Amino acid sequence: MNKVQIIHGPCSLESYQQMDQIIHELLPISNVFRCGIYKPRTNFDSFQGLKKEGLQIIHDLKIKYPQVKFCVEITEISQLKEIEDIDIIQIGARNMQNYELLIAVGKTDKQILLKRGFGSTVSELLSSANYIKAQGNSDIILCERGIRTFSDVGRFTLDLAAVGFLQEQTEYPIFVDPSHAGGEVLEVTRLTKAAVAYGVDGLIIEVHPNPSQALSDSEQQLPIEEYKQLIAKINS
Ligand code: PEP
Ligand code: MN
Repeated sequence: MNKVQIIHGPCSLESYQQMDQIIHELLPISNVFRCGIYKPRTNFDSFQGLKKEGLQIIHDLKIKYPQVKFCVEITEISQLKEIEDIDIIQIGARNMQNYELLIAVGKTDKQILLKRGFGSTVSELLSSANYIKAQGNSDIILCERGIRTFSDVGRFTLDLAAVGFLQEQTEYPIFVDPSHAGGEVLEVTRLTKAAVAYGVDGLIIEVHPNPSQALSDSEQQLPIEEYKQLIAKINS
């Protein structure tokens, strides 16, 4: 039993074999896996995700691992009709204020992982959650993933104070994503420990069998063995 809830997996789904290995290795830790297939990349030339091919891989993996829950980010409303195999819909930082998308996912009966925009206040995050809830779906996880500040170290600044405030003010589970805040392996491990010590409800962490070859976010994804050691440490 983990001290906190855990969602883990690679930044991007890259192949059946990659995800099969990750699930096989990490299933004893948690059965909730996150992998990107529609990737909102800052640069047009970057890997954009496997899209429909990725959905087919998830479909095949669900047959092999019926106990696994998949979390996938969607970036537009039309993708909703393609994701019947997906259990948790991620709304990424860049779409936190995409109100039409929030309304559309609010009409589904799937759990929603809503990430805080890196330029958004905590009040704005709550307002976005209200768009989803107003449609009848209150099965929402809120996720602090780091914001832009004038700090020039790390990828983003993890706002742990937001976690405590949100825990006091809402009924939602409050997760932290140390991967996108930390931006590199050592900092990700430190932020993970800090978040657990602070009292978060859950973590979403990027893990990859071979991070240096990853098609996105290669510097921040934890290798499998290092990740296992980190989880053992926070549970000890
Ligand atoms: C991600 O989870 O891979 C991602 C792109 O996160 P964010 O929306 O927080 O940048
Ligand atoms: Mn990522």
